[in-house]
Amino acid sequence: MYSSVGVVRQGIDFLCTYSSSDELQPGQLIAVYFKNKKIIGIVFDNAEDSDYLGNIKQVSDILSYTINKAYLNFIKFVSEYNLIPMSSALKLLCPFNLTVLLKQHKSHVGIRSDVIANVILNEEQQNAVNKIELEKFDVYLLHGVTGSGKTEVFLEVAKRLNNAQILILVPEITLSNVMAESIAKRCGREVFIWHNSVSPAKKLSIWQNAIQGEPIIVVGARSALFIPFSNLKLIVVDEEHDPTFKQNDHQIYNARDMAVYLASLLKIPIILSSATPSVESYKNAIDCKYKYIKLTSRYYLGANLPTVNVTDMRFVGKNAIFSPETIEKIKYYLNNNQQILIFVNRRGYAIKRLCPNCGWKIMCPACDTWLCYHATGSRLICHHCGYTSSNIKQCKKCGNEYLVNFGIGIEKVYAECQKLFTKASIVMCSSDNMNNPTKIDEVINKIKNNEVNIIIGTQILAKGHNFNSLNLVVVANLDYMLYTENFRAVENTFQLLYQVTGRAGRTGNFQSEVIIQTYNPEEPLLTMINNQSEFYKNELNNRKLTNMPPYGHIISIEISSSNDDKANEYAQELTQNLRNASIANTIVVGVIIPNLYKTNYKYRYNILLISKNSIQNKIKGILKSYKPHFGIFTKIDVDPYNFD
Ligand SMILES: [Zn+2]
Ligand SMILES: [Zn+2]
Repeated sequence: MYSSVGVVRQGIDFLCTYSSSDELQPGQLIAVYFKNKKIIGIVFDNAEDSDYLGNIKQVSDILSYTINKAYLNFIKFVSEYNLIPMSSALKLLCPFNLTVLLKQHKSHVGIRSDVIANVILNEEQQNAVNKIELEKFDVYLLHGVTGSGKTEVFLEVAKRLNNAQILILVPEITLSNVMAESIAKRCGREVFIWHNSVSPAKKLSIWQNAIQGEPIIVVGARSALFIPFSNLKLIVVDEEHDPTFKQNDHQIYNARDMAVYLASLLKIPIILSSATPSVESYKNAIDCKYKYIKLTSRYYLGANLPTVNVTDMRFVGKNAIFSPETIEKIKYYLNNNQQILIFVNRRGYAIKRLCPNCGWKIMCPACDTWLCYHATGSRLICHHCGYTSSNIKQCKKCGNEYLVNFGIGIEKVYAECQKLFTKASIVMCSSDNMNNPTKIDEVINKIKNNEVNIIIGTQILAKGHNFNSLNLVVVANLDYMLYTENFRAVENTFQLLYQVTGRAGRTGNFQSEVIIQTYNPEEPLLTMINNQSEFYKNELNNRKLTNMPPYGHIISIEISSSNDDKANEYAQELTQNLRNASIANTIVVGVIIPNLYKTNYKYRYNILLISKNSIQNKIKGILKSYKPHFGIFTKIDVDPYNFD
């Protein structure tokens, strides 16, 4: 008996033939010799004969795991759609090495709750639950205003699937614990968390349970999509619009989009949940490809969406962090024992540092970008490659000792708040000081227990959380968010603004308000925060005019090398090759120099292809016949999110 086998090893893009005296099932995990190394393989197909002319090796061991066949088709699709080598995609399915799999492991326990919470759904939520049909593939776009209780809707659906496996994808590690606890409480079942900080031993135990069909619920980051469940009955993608579902490195894929395909293969429902659906999903809903469910009112009676006030910072002075009105408002809410969230989109203290005397800029030596000044630890950090140095206090060109900082980062806002609101208890949350789940949970609990008055946060706390006494949200500087060259900038800003403003007034126990500080009060987006349909109408119109997704597909090919000329030359030649191929309905946008032209000592050039069709196969062929020279790297990004 011959088997075509996918080997689990980076970079191999074909199936290999092995022979075995046993009858192997598709999906069976085995051990095989590949290039003299014993590694994991997965059986795809079997045949009595093989036309392979080389030496066919024997299967070495048969492992005690068989993966659900649907996942083999899923991996094929993931590989073909995203132009990822087959074996690299298989590595997502089986992220362990052979020695780990051969060992016996003790199982770990998930999160359980002693009390089962009975939540009474309102009519709108109940109707939403009733619309979702089990045991059948459909994509549901669950679109609800912030605080409308979307979570309760899919938890109720999960509860109905008593003994089935359920997968809930969440965008941030910060949300996974909170989500897991609410599910445990609502469904009375054991819930497991899966993300990068979870230990390999725990992951293995979850993976085994999934394959064996144990009725587990997994809450996880995007990589959880590849856990090979054998009895999965529901997928939920919470905050489906979130850009973090897109993996931007190594195996590049969009977990939300791949999840939709997986659900179609498994013939199960998938719920995409969001207060601000992605433009793509929204379009699918209005085109009736997705079933659209809308929740229009906040769950708590009397909890209205906050009023939004725009503060024109042009008259306040360039170095001001808050306008006088904002300061008064913060004081007012402090005096009434209400919590305040101040949203700042930048890490560190200042965005750039330079010499006012001669203009010398402090730049990253590895990248074409500024170093950011961080007051904590008095350091300069590159936010792209992570390069860190101690602070530079003297100009290296003219010797001037008075260097100046520009731009407002979260640490500066924190320092200002400490000065202005001396009695308040203030907490700062950014990825620099909240870098593990325990720290994050600690801070969240402090906020929930009202031990904190002012929360200053980057996106890390902007979404998902419910803080009962939070009734004022201040967006410190809108302008940093909006003006980038990414065609998704407007969408992303809209979503982030809506999410942030939605933190205020969740329970209706106090009047709630949002202040947006900006130097561009005429920005059209500001009028759309409380008029979502206007935003989608506008944005879809713009995308249509420019052939951007969802009207056109984009594939980006990044060429990089430590040798600038060689990278440029190859990029030009490849562009010509792609143009010569005359791919139907496709525009090859010539070589683009990205904003971050140099990063990590590498020079980068991008080629963009915009097409009406699916052109992955064509591109694969062209890249195969026109391989890059030594020292030149290509990175293909299908449906890219990052254009920096
Ligand atoms: Zn100088
Ligand atoms: Zn750098």
